[in-house]
Amino acid sequence: MKLIVIGATGSMSGPESPASSYLIQARGIDPQSGGERVFSLVCDLGPGSFGALWTHLCPCDLDALALSHCHADHMGDIISLQVYRKWGPGSCALRPVSLFGPAETMHRVRQIEGAAQDEGYEAEFAFTHLQVGESYQVGPMTIRPFRALHPVEAFGLRIEGPSEDDPSRRVSLFYTGDTDLCDTIVEGASGVDVLLSEVGFTSEATEPDMHMDGVRAGTLATRAGVGRMIATHIQPWTPREQVSSEIRQAWSGPLEFAVSGMEVSL
Ligand SMILES: [Zn+2]
Ligand SMILES: [Zn+2]
Repeated sequence: MKLIVIGATGSMSGPESPASSYLIQARGIDPQSGGERVFSLVCDLGPGSFGALWTHLCPCDLDALALSHCHADHMGDIISLQVYRKWGPGSCALRPVSLFGPAETMHRVRQIEGAAQDEGYEAEFAFTHLQVGESYQVGPMTIRPFRALHPVEAFGLRIEGPSEDDPSRRVSLFYTGDTDLCDTIVEGASGVDVLLSEVGFTSEATEPDMHMDGVRAGTLATRAGVGRMIATHIQPWTPREQVSSEIRQAWSGPLEFAVSGMEVSL
């Protein structure tokens, strides 16, 4: 399984990166052809990320999109994907792409497009409302949602799949989405190889039940016992050194910062 960071800037697109979006790929057996191929899952599709995603993947080849929640900085570019899949080359041959997200997902897509309430996007998306306790399959990858602590329905996503080096071994990634520190997010991240954690606040500028600051994100990594931590969703005006020194108050393991184009082999 491989993680490719498409967009990592917190709360908006920024000068160095689109807003939140992560491509996760793994090799598996195609049920139609019986042959092996790469399966592609995207977690979140924030502003500016669709174009950046395109440099890694033809939009026709996407297997599934999973939305952590429906704030605009995590799903604004879904309308670019919708337009491409409706009107782009080869679109008539495409089956609807799997779309996992909160209950309000299709309503929010209609709002962004300005579409009528009866627009169902059946040709473009096959929508599933994420449920805690359920798991969802994308080729060889399994998605399990965990309740996040954020002002809207929101999930952290645990993704497991075959190792790149040894496909018989399962590896794991947890993406927090947007959340404050809470027990369900610690549970979701428990023992993962890679924790992709938001750090939306600094300890000086924080509010409860919305985002983590560096200390809380570091605490998450330590409590969950993760292999390595990748910090993301840092606002474009926040100095990295500050985030790093906050995380280091609570986490002494491997630490990196997500940047657009970064690839992590699991
Ligand atoms: Zn956000
Ligand atoms: Zn949010």
